[in-house]
Amino acid sequence: MFNNLTDKLDKAFHILKGHGKITDVNVADTLKEVRRALLDADVNFKIAKEFTTKVKEKAIGENVLTTLQPGQLLVKIVKDELTELMGGDVAGINLSGTPSVILMSGLQGSGKTTFSGKLANFLKSKKGKKTLLVACDIYRPAAINQLHVVGDQIGVEVYSEPENKNPVEIAQNAIKHAKANGFNVVIVDTAGRLAVDEEMMTEIANVHKAIQPQETLFVVDAMTGQDAVNTAKAFNDRLNFDGVILTKLDGDTRGGAAISIKSVVNKPIKFIGTGEKMDAIDVFYPSRMADRILG
Ligand code: GDP
Repeated sequence: MFNNLTDKLDKAFHILKGHGKITDVNVADTLKEVRRALLDADVNFKIAKEFTTKVKEKAIGENVLTTLQPGQLLVKIVKDELTELMGGDVAGINLSGTPSVILMSGLQGSGKTTFSGKLANFLKSKKGKKTLLVACDIYRPAAINQLHVVGDQIGVEVYSEPENKNPVEIAQNAIKHAKANGFNVVIVDTAGRLAVDEEMMTEIANVHKAIQPQETLFVVDAMTGQDAVNTAKAFNDRLNFDGVILTKLDGDTRGGAAISIKSVVNKPIKFIGTGEKMDAIDVFYPSRMADRILG
């Protein structure tokens, strides 16, 4: 998943091996390498610096150098801090509405439509929820078709109004349909553009205001590194979303988005996408992710 980062962190901790007793110079060298590895993984400079400062303070506070296995303890401190940086605890999604409305946001190509299908499938098979998928992309007929294909594949109804060019109306009508037909969850898939633009932001902000979703999720491609973090900021400024979905983690990504997005927008990563198939979805567990990063 994060092969390059994992290799570099492994090398950083190698500095501590083979020493009978480690010194504060060894610790400083290790942390310098950890910081370099984070920067190479496209973690923002300030976050990487704060991270190693925290690890160092903790190492001093826990008297790492005087313990029996200082190297192992330092690795544990790094793991705990990484977990914390990625959100600490697992973040659930709010399904308290009748129906619960989930609004999907993100750039075109981020994996929004695919993830909408995966989430509907997850809620259906794991939580027994009757879910309605809503196609709110008024620009690309292909996007509406794509959602119907996904819906057919997982046996979930898709609501669309191909002739209607008003996404607010489509979303509102879909929610009415869901209420009238006993759906528990409504997932609204919106139009995405190739880059953040004002028109797109206004459109989704209008849909958001009109339907007042329980959950607004921001979908982002993990392969895009710092861009992912910047796009998240732009969407969060307008939508104040509730959580992040990190897709395409099945590829070998650098890791920066997974590590830094939470601290930049102060919103948790809730799910990850790990492939193109409908079951390639996982709840995001910060501590498990930290384990994978450390290898
Ligand atoms: P949208 O424009 O945001 O709705 O993006 P799509 O859902 O159409 O996804 C864009 C492309 O990314 C498609 O080819 C998907 O199959 C692919 N994709 C989506 N999620 C994942 C994922 O988690 N892993 C991989 N490898 N591909 C994905």
